[in-house]
Amino acid sequence: MTPPVGPGPEGAPAGGRAFAVGLRDRFRGVTVREGMLVRGPSGWGEFSPFAEYGPRESSRWWAACHEAAFLGWPEPVRDRVPVNVTVPALGPERARAIVAAGGCATAKVKVAERGQDPAQDLARVEAVRDALGPSGKVRVDANGGWDVDTAVRMVRALDRFGLEYVEQPCATLEELAEVRRRVDVPVAADESIRRAEDPLRVRAAGAADIVVLKVQPLGGVRAALRVAEACGLPVVVSSAVETSVGLAAGVALAAALPDLPHACGLATGQMLTADVTADPLLPLDGFLPVRPVAVDEESLRAVEVDPAGWRARAEAARAAADEVFGTG
Ligand SMILES: [Mg+2]
Repeated sequence: MTPPVGPGPEGAPAGGRAFAVGLRDRFRGVTVREGMLVRGPSGWGEFSPFAEYGPRESSRWWAACHEAAFLGWPEPVRDRVPVNVTVPALGPERARAIVAAGGCATAKVKVAERGQDPAQDLARVEAVRDALGPSGKVRVDANGGWDVDTAVRMVRALDRFGLEYVEQPCATLEELAEVRRRVDVPVAADESIRRAEDPLRVRAAGAADIVVLKVQPLGGVRAALRVAEACGLPVVVSSAVETSVGLAAGVALAAALPDLPHACGLATGQMLTADVTADPLLPLDGFLPVRPVAVDEESLRAVEVDPAGWRARAEAARAAADEVFGTG
């Protein structure tokens, strides 16, 4: 796999500004999204690997931040990106209200929630289909929560409401491949893709029809474009729940892909209680605009925290990138 773009000396994270932004709902067990912003000649970049990620894992996230700040992104081939509204594992009335408020033509519905039963998934998806109307698209995301037999049974039952695809029905590639052989609904791989080699494995295993790609874990927009090309499957670009600075990188990837047949999971700006810009990347009529994000000093200061720990993490990630990819 091609290494990420080498962070040069001018990309030093010494001047990075750290932030901590509240989340409206718990995500990955936390209620605060933290990271660092770096400003370079091309604009702002976001470095926000999750807390448990070490330097090696974080090195790709640093490469993505460096690319945004110091290299910029490839030319877009479209000026807006379709996005989906996400419906958490709530009751049908709440699900209906979220879809109605979202203004998107595509909804992603969480299913297979621990402690819930199949009837709840069916009622939620039925409500979403009803709220979207027959022309809307409904995808479900099980986050790997089903075994193969349950997945096959549930996908067939839920497809009564017309499914665009099922995302990560089971945990392993072998299970995904078996589900894919047994149902007519396309299968998308999300959790199975956490590093640049994974999409190629997904394809080789016959495990998915669609891959979900995120910019930071793959090492930047260019790296993700290379992964998409090598993989040869349709791509859904998704966020890592970033500020508008990080989301702009996802939008840049979605805007540069030659084909974009599905709405993207980039409408996550609403999950945050604040942002680092006065003009956040939020969907309008189901689309995000392809445009630069201007960090606003007042907004950033309102969420700014001590940068020492983040600058150290970024330095370690940069050193790991040099060591792993020989970019030093
Ligand atoms: Mg997912």
